[in-house]
Amino acid sequence: MYEVCIIETEMKQTQATKKAIERDDNLCQWCLKKRMRITRCNEGHHIWGRAIVDEVDGIITLCRVCHQGTEDGGEPTRDQLLDIMPEARKYENEIWQ
Ligand SMILES: [Zn+2]
Repeated sequence: MYEVCIIETEMKQTQATKKAIERDDNLCQWCLKKRMRITRCNEGHHIWGRAIVDEVDGIITLCRVCHQGTEDGGEPTRDQLLDIMPEARKYENEIWQ
């Protein structure tokens, strides 16, 4: 998991990721909405996986710590991220059809 994360962050960001980070004002949304912290960052997390949904509404800005947490299967979980970003739920049906 750790190696995957390194590769992910070193990979070129997609246009959708850049737009999502811009929308979130470069702030980790989990820190901002759940931990009451302002954490500036430039990492986008594809909630459904980059290969499945690479759309602005499917990407959330997360700091290194939160990103690592979710990639490692800890917190925030996908459900927790969907709670603070309900617009990403619309892809759920598409994916499992
Ligand atoms: Zn964070």
